[in-house]
Amino acid sequence: MEVIHLSVECFPIAKVGGLADVVGALPKYQRTLGIDAKVVIPWFDRPFVKEHEFEIVAAGSFSQGSEELQYEIHKERSDVLGFPLFLIKIPGKLDREEVYCYPDEAEQWIAFQHAFLHWIQNNGIHPSVIHCHDHHVGLIAFLLQHGTDFRELASTKTVFTVHNGQYQGWMSWSKGILLPAFDTWKWGLLDWDGLINPLATAIKCSDAYTTVSDGYLNELFIEANGLQGLFNAESAKGYGIVNGIDTAYWNPQVDALIEKKYNKITVHKGKEENKRILCEKYNLRPDLPLISFIGRFAKEKGADLLFEIFVKLFSIQENMSIFILGSGDKEIQNKLKELELKFEGKLALFFGYDEVLAHQVYAASDMLLMPSRIEPCGLNQLYALKYGTIPIVRSIGGLKDTVVDVANEGYGFVFEKLNADDAVEAIGRSLDAYSDIKTWKGIRKKAMQLDFSWDRSAKKYVELYNQLLK
Ligand code: ADP
Repeated sequence: MEVIHLSVECFPIAKVGGLADVVGALPKYQRTLGIDAKVVIPWFDRPFVKEHEFEIVAAGSFSQGSEELQYEIHKERSDVLGFPLFLIKIPGKLDREEVYCYPDEAEQWIAFQHAFLHWIQNNGIHPSVIHCHDHHVGLIAFLLQHGTDFRELASTKTVFTVHNGQYQGWMSWSKGILLPAFDTWKWGLLDWDGLINPLATAIKCSDAYTTVSDGYLNELFIEANGLQGLFNAESAKGYGIVNGIDTAYWNPQVDALIEKKYNKITVHKGKEENKRILCEKYNLRPDLPLISFIGRFAKEKGADLLFEIFVKLFSIQENMSIFILGSGDKEIQNKLKELELKFEGKLALFFGYDEVLAHQVYAASDMLLMPSRIEPCGLNQLYALKYGTIPIVRSIGGLKDTVVDVANEGYGFVFEKLNADDAVEAIGRSLDAYSDIKTWKGIRKKAMQLDFSWDRSAKKYVELYNQLLK
C-alpha cells in the first residue's frame, strides 16, 4: 500500500508546531508496518534542505491564472528521515524561508496542490491513499474528484487530518480563477458562507476525516469556528485518532539535546542536573520546583492567562521557579515582560522558537503548565510525561484524553474551567504533592511508565486506509 502524506510542515525540515512533529514521525512508524509511506511538502530555503543532498526527479509546468508556473520535484537522497521525502519547488512561490505569514499564502498553497497533482498524474504515480494534513492541502480531494485534468486519479482514496480546525484557509471567490480547472457546477463544494473554505471542502470531499484526538472530534461537533454543522453532517466518516510521539527523538534516555540523559530509574538525579544547568543560565533558583510553559503565545493556548495566573500564584506562594518559552502575540509578550520584571529571579522568559531549548526545558522542569482554551491533541503534555515532567492541564480536547488527575489515580493535575483561579488551584495541588518526595516520585513513576509512542496510533491509521480500500 502506497500512502503519500501531503503537508506544508514536516519536522525537521519546516516546523512551526505539532503538525510538523506528526508528519515527521507518523510515516516512519507506518513504514515499520509494511506501508510504503512518503511525504511531500513545499521546498524551503532552510538548513535541512541546504545540508542534505537532493535530486530532481521530475519537473513540469502549469498555469495559475495568468501566470505560467514551473515546478521541480526534489527527492532527498540519503533516507536519513526513515521515509522518502519529496519537496516541490516553484520559483517565486515555493522557495521561501518561512512556512507561513506571506501575503500570497493562498496562491502558494493552490500552486502546491496543483503541482502535486500535475506531477503524480503525469508520471503515472497512483498512490493507494493520499493523506492530507490541515487546510493548506484541503482542496486535494475535491480536485481529484472534480478537477478536469486529473480524471485518471479520480478513484484515489483520500484521508484528511484536522490538526487545527480554527484555521480554515478562507479565500475570496476572486481566487477561484487560480484553481486548476474543475467541473464548475460543483462549485458549491468549495463554498462556505460565501468564501472558498479549503477545510470545509476537505471535510465534504475526503473519503474519511480524522482529528488528532477523540475529545477534539466531539468538541468540533459543538464548536468548530462555524463548521460544527458540517462536522456533524459528515460525522459518519469522522474518526478521532490520538497523536503519538517519536520516542527515538523525544526520549530523555537518548536525547542528544539535553545535558544529562536519564531514564525511569535515574530520573531524580538526571532532572536535578538538567534543572541546575537551566536555572543557572536563566538566573533561577534550582532548589525550588520548576514550572514551565512552552508554546505559541496565542489565545488558543491560554497564553493570555499566564500573567494573571502567575500574579495570583506568587501572591499566595513564593517558593517556585517559572520558565516560559514561546513566541507569538506581541501584546502577550509585553505582559510577560512586565511579569519578569516584577518577579526577577523567580521567573525567566525566552522569546523565540528554539527546538534545543524546548528539549532542555522538558528535561529540567518538574511541571508543565497548559492552560489551553482549545487543544486538538497537544504534544507538549506527551513529551512532558516521557521526561517525567508532570502536566498541569485544562481539561479540553486531547489534554482531556491523555492526562488523568492524581485524584483519580493518575499522573497529572487537571482543572476544568478556563480561569486563573482554577489554574492556580491545580498548580497549588501540584506543589503540595511535590513537597512530599515519596508522593512525587510515585506520580513521576506513573508518568514515565506510560506509552504514547506512535505504534498504536500508526496502526489505527492503517486500519482506516484498509477500510477505505476494501
Ligand atoms: P501546536 O498547536 O502549536 O501545534 P502542539 O502541542 O501540537 O501545539 O505542538 C507544539 C510543538 O511545538 C511541540 O513540539 C513544542 O515543543 C513545540 N514548540 C512550541 N513553541 C515552541 C518554542 N517557542 N520553541 C521550541 N519549540 C516549541
